[in-house]
Amino acid sequence: MGRYFTVRLREPTGLRFACVRCDLCCGTGPNVALTVFDAVRMARFLGLGWREFLARYVRVIVADVLPFLSLRGDGAGRCLLLHTKVTGETVCVAYPARPMRCRLYPVLVERLGGGEAVVDAACPGLGRGPPLRVPARLYEQYVWERREHYRRLHRLVVEGGLHPLRALEEALEAAWREAEEGAVWADLDYLESLGSV
Ligand code: SF4
Ligand code: SF4
Repeated sequence: MGRYFTVRLREPTGLRFACVRCDLCCGTGPNVALTVFDAVRMARFLGLGWREFLARYVRVIVADVLPFLSLRGDGAGRCLLLHTKVTGETVCVAYPARPMRCRLYPVLVERLGGGEAVVDAACPGLGRGPPLRVPARLYEQYVWERREHYRRLHRLVVEGGLHPLRALEEALEAAWREAEEGAVWADLDYLESLGSV
Protein backbone atom coordinates (compact mmCIF):
# COMPACT_ATOMS: atom_id res chain seq x y z
CA MET A 1 0.00 0.00 0.00
CA GLY A 2 1.29 3.49 -0.85
CA ARG A 3 1.21 6.37 1.58
CA TYR A 4 -2.09 7.72 0.20
CA PHE A 5 -5.14 5.87 -1.01
CA THR A 6 -8.59 6.84 -2.19
CA VAL A 7 -11.96 6.07 -0.57
CA ARG A 8 -15.52 6.85 -1.63
CA LEU A 9 -17.14 9.66 0.36
CA ARG A 10 -20.56 8.21 1.10
CA GLU A 11 -19.70 4.53 1.21
CA PRO A 12 -18.06 2.30 3.81
CA THR A 13 -14.32 2.72 3.44
CA GLY A 14 -13.40 -0.78 4.53
CA LEU A 15 -10.93 0.83 6.98
CA ARG A 16 -10.86 1.05 10.75
CA PHE A 17 -9.64 4.06 12.72
CA ALA A 18 -9.05 5.06 16.34
CA CYS A 19 -6.64 7.87 17.24
CA VAL A 20 -3.81 6.57 19.43
CA ARG A 21 -2.71 10.13 20.41
CA CYS A 22 0.75 9.61 18.98
CA ASP A 23 0.98 13.30 17.93
CA LEU A 24 2.50 12.39 14.58
CA CYS A 25 0.04 14.71 12.82
CA CYS A 26 0.54 17.63 15.26
CA GLY A 27 4.29 17.08 15.14
CA THR A 28 4.18 18.17 11.51
CA GLY A 29 2.20 21.33 12.19
CA PRO A 30 3.91 23.40 9.48
CA ASN A 31 2.16 21.22 6.91
CA VAL A 32 -1.28 22.31 8.07
CA ALA A 33 -2.61 24.71 5.46
CA LEU A 34 -5.18 27.25 6.64
CA THR A 35 -7.98 29.10 4.93
CA VAL A 36 -9.09 32.54 6.07
CA PHE A 37 -12.04 30.76 7.71
CA ASP A 38 -9.73 28.57 9.79
CA ALA A 39 -7.63 31.58 10.76
CA VAL A 40 -10.60 33.67 11.87
CA ARG A 41 -12.16 30.81 13.87
CA MET A 42 -8.87 30.08 15.61
CA ALA A 43 -8.06 33.72 16.36
CA ARG A 44 -11.50 34.33 17.85
CA PHE A 45 -11.30 31.16 19.94
CA LEU A 46 -7.87 32.15 21.30
CA GLY A 47 -9.08 35.69 22.03
CA LEU A 48 -6.71 37.25 19.54
CA GLY A 49 -7.17 39.59 16.62
CA TRP A 50 -6.34 38.01 13.27
CA ARG A 51 -3.13 40.06 12.95
CA GLU A 52 -1.83 38.84 16.29
CA PHE A 53 -2.85 35.26 15.49
CA LEU A 54 -0.93 35.38 12.21
CA ALA A 55 2.11 36.93 13.84
CA ARG A 56 2.25 34.21 16.52
CA TYR A 57 1.22 31.05 14.72
CA VAL A 58 1.13 31.37 10.95
CA ARG A 59 3.66 31.34 8.15
CA VAL A 60 2.55 33.24 5.06
CA ILE A 61 4.26 32.75 1.73
CA VAL A 62 3.30 34.01 -1.69
CA ALA A 63 3.10 31.07 -4.09
CA ASP A 64 2.68 32.26 -7.69
CA VAL A 65 0.37 35.21 -7.16
CA LEU A 66 -1.69 33.97 -4.21
CA PRO A 67 -0.75 33.98 -0.52
CA PHE A 68 -0.54 30.60 1.22
CA LEU A 69 -1.05 30.21 4.98
CA SER A 70 0.18 27.34 7.12
CA LEU A 71 0.67 26.76 10.83
CA ARG A 72 4.19 27.39 12.08
CA GLY A 73 6.09 24.76 13.99
CA ASP A 74 8.86 24.97 16.53
CA GLY A 75 12.43 24.01 15.58
CA ALA A 76 11.46 20.32 15.63
CA GLY A 77 8.42 20.86 13.40
CA ARG A 78 5.90 20.53 16.21
CA CYS A 79 2.78 22.69 15.98
CA LEU A 80 3.00 25.71 18.29
CA LEU A 81 -0.55 25.05 19.44
CA LEU A 82 0.31 21.63 20.85
CA HIS A 83 1.01 22.04 24.56
CA THR A 84 2.26 19.46 27.04
CA LYS A 85 0.55 19.30 30.44
CA VAL A 86 2.47 18.56 33.65
CA THR A 87 1.12 14.99 33.40
CA GLY A 88 2.95 14.63 30.07
CA GLU A 89 -0.36 14.49 28.18
CA THR A 90 -0.46 16.68 25.08
CA VAL A 91 -3.35 18.93 24.18
CA CYS A 92 -4.24 21.22 21.27
CA VAL A 93 -5.00 24.58 22.86
CA ALA A 94 -7.28 25.48 19.95
CA TYR A 95 -8.98 22.08 19.75
CA PRO A 96 -12.63 23.26 19.44
CA ALA A 97 -11.52 25.64 16.67
CA ARG A 98 -8.79 23.45 15.16
CA PRO A 99 -8.24 23.81 11.42
CA MET A 100 -10.36 21.77 9.05
CA ARG A 101 -7.33 19.76 7.98
CA CYS A 102 -6.83 18.70 11.60
CA ARG A 103 -10.53 17.91 12.02
CA LEU A 104 -10.48 15.62 9.02
CA TYR A 105 -7.09 13.92 9.40
CA PRO A 106 -6.22 11.17 8.39
CA VAL A 107 -8.70 12.05 5.66
CA LEU A 108 -7.19 14.61 3.31
CA VAL A 109 -8.93 16.95 0.90
CA GLU A 110 -6.62 16.79 -2.06
CA ARG A 111 -9.24 16.70 -4.82
CA LEU A 112 -12.17 19.04 -4.80
CA GLY A 113 -15.21 17.08 -5.95
CA GLY A 114 -15.66 13.68 -7.50
CA GLY A 115 -17.13 12.04 -4.39
CA GLU A 116 -13.77 10.70 -3.28
CA ALA A 117 -11.39 11.42 -0.41
CA VAL A 118 -7.75 10.56 0.14
CA VAL A 119 -6.57 8.83 3.33
CA ASP A 120 -3.04 9.14 4.72
CA ALA A 121 -1.87 5.60 5.47
CA ALA A 122 0.98 7.01 7.62
CA CYS A 123 -1.46 7.61 10.52
CA PRO A 124 -0.85 4.90 13.15
CA GLY A 125 -4.54 5.00 14.15
CA LEU A 126 -5.58 3.27 10.94
CA GLY A 127 -6.37 -0.40 11.28
CA ARG A 128 -7.66 0.03 14.86
CA GLY A 129 -11.06 0.75 16.40
CA PRO A 130 -14.42 1.10 14.71
CA PRO A 131 -15.02 1.39 10.94
CA LEU A 132 -13.84 4.69 9.44
CA ARG A 133 -16.59 6.57 7.68
CA VAL A 134 -15.65 9.91 6.10
CA PRO A 135 -17.84 12.68 7.62
CA ALA A 136 -19.24 13.80 4.27
CA ARG A 137 -20.88 17.01 5.52
CA LEU A 138 -17.68 18.17 7.22
CA TYR A 139 -15.67 17.23 4.14
CA GLU A 140 -18.03 19.20 1.90
CA GLN A 141 -17.87 22.20 4.23
CA TYR A 142 -14.10 22.17 3.89
CA VAL A 143 -14.32 21.84 0.11
CA TRP A 144 -16.58 24.94 0.12
CA GLU A 145 -14.18 26.84 2.41
CA ARG A 146 -11.17 25.98 0.26
CA ARG A 147 -12.91 27.03 -2.93
CA GLU A 148 -14.26 30.22 -1.36
CA HIS A 149 -10.85 31.09 0.14
CA TYR A 150 -9.11 30.88 -3.23
CA ARG A 151 -12.01 32.47 -5.11
CA ARG A 152 -11.88 35.55 -2.84
CA LEU A 153 -8.10 35.86 -3.00
CA HIS A 154 -8.06 35.36 -6.74
CA ARG A 155 -10.66 38.07 -7.22
CA LEU A 156 -8.77 40.55 -5.03
CA VAL A 157 -5.41 39.88 -6.68
CA VAL A 158 -6.29 39.22 -10.30
CA GLU A 159 -9.38 41.41 -10.73
CA GLY A 160 -8.66 43.95 -8.00
CA GLY A 161 -4.95 44.29 -8.72
CA LEU A 162 -3.98 44.09 -5.05
CA HIS A 163 -0.62 42.85 -3.82
CA PRO A 164 -1.13 39.25 -2.55
CA LEU A 165 -0.42 40.22 1.07
CA ARG A 166 -2.79 43.18 0.91
CA ALA A 167 -5.41 40.86 -0.62
CA LEU A 168 -4.94 38.47 2.28
CA GLU A 169 -5.52 41.30 4.76
CA GLU A 170 -8.72 42.28 2.96
CA ALA A 171 -9.94 38.67 2.85
CA LEU A 172 -9.25 38.25 6.56
CA GLU A 173 -10.98 41.55 7.41
CA ALA A 174 -14.03 40.49 5.40
CA ALA A 175 -14.14 37.04 7.03
CA TRP A 176 -13.73 38.63 10.45
CA ARG A 177 -16.72 40.92 9.81
CA GLU A 178 -18.80 37.96 8.62
CA ALA A 179 -17.94 36.02 11.77
CA GLU A 180 -18.92 39.01 13.94
CA GLU A 181 -22.23 39.15 12.07
CA GLY A 182 -22.95 35.48 12.83
CA ALA A 183 -21.82 33.59 9.72
CA VAL A 184 -22.60 29.91 10.13
CA TRP A 185 -19.04 28.83 9.25
CA ALA A 186 -17.81 30.71 12.35
CA ASP A 187 -20.12 28.77 14.67
CA LEU A 188 -18.06 26.04 16.37
CA ASP A 189 -21.20 24.15 17.43
CA TYR A 190 -22.28 24.05 13.81
CA LEU A 191 -18.90 22.66 12.75
CA GLU A 192 -19.11 20.05 15.49
CA SER A 193 -22.56 19.05 14.23
CA LEU A 194 -21.05 18.19 10.84
CA GLY A 195 -19.38 15.14 12.35
CA SER A 196 -15.80 14.08 12.89
CA VAL A 197 -13.47 11.35 11.76
S1 SF4 B 1 -4.77 11.17 14.07
FE1 SF4 B 1 -3.26 9.57 13.62
S2 SF4 B 1 -1.25 10.59 13.55
FE2 SF4 B 1 -2.71 11.97 14.60
S3 SF4 B 1 -2.46 11.54 16.79
FE3 SF4 B 1 -4.16 10.27 16.05
S4 SF4 B 1 -3.22 8.31 15.52
FE4 SF4 B 1 -1.54 9.82 15.66
S1 SF4 C 1 -3.82 23.04 15.42
FE1 SF4 C 1 -4.07 21.57 17.06
S2 SF4 C 1 -4.80 19.69 16.06
FE2 SF4 C 1 -3.88 20.99 14.47
S3 SF4 C 1 -1.70 20.40 14.27
FE3 SF4 C 1 -1.80 22.08 15.77
S4 SF4 C 1 -1.98 21.10 17.78
FE4 SF4 C 1 -2.52 19.55 16.21
